[in-house]
Amino acid sequence: MISQIIEDILLDHEENLIIDGHKVATVRAENTCLHALMILNSVGYSSIPVLDREGRVAGQISTPLIFSGIKDELQYNWDKLAERRVSEVMSTNVAVLDENCALEDILHNLVNHSFLCLVDSGGFFRGIITRRELLKRVNYLAHEFDRYTEMYSN
Ligand code: AMP
Repeated sequence: MISQIIEDILLDHEENLIIDGHKVATVRAENTCLHALMILNSVGYSSIPVLDREGRVAGQISTPLIFSGIKDELQYNWDKLAERRVSEVMSTNVAVLDENCALEDILHNLVNHSFLCLVDSGGFFRGIITRRELLKRVNYLAHEFDRYTEMYSN
């Protein structure tokens, strides 16, 4: 159970904790690895969510996953970049939470995942919560905690 003061400080910000789906770089499971590599390279993130045709979260993709996926016994087969699909090399180890989930679940999952995918009640992708955004708030909490406890005690 998270203390109400802590929850208020972490959630009460002008900026939204969730990065809207429209601002999140994603690839489709049916895209080629070459396409995914180009997207990863242009956005500069180490990994990004993979969506299925309907817009549900299917997994996550990263450059190391793509490179492992096109490797034969000992060497890379670059031709496979344009042949293999993201679905064949992606990882399904991605945290997917309901967009109305509790702060407790967010904190718990961000320990092991650098970003969390938020979905609506139909399971459709809505956006992500990143460690950075949450840590910015923890930083704020660490500096402003005394001010809030004073406010709550009055
Ligand atoms: P951060 O905490 O900002 O470093 O973000 C954690 C991770 O979330 C990044 O390494 C990316 O994998 C992912 N991420 C953050 N922002 C975006 C975005 N706009 N589009 C896609 N993935 C993102």
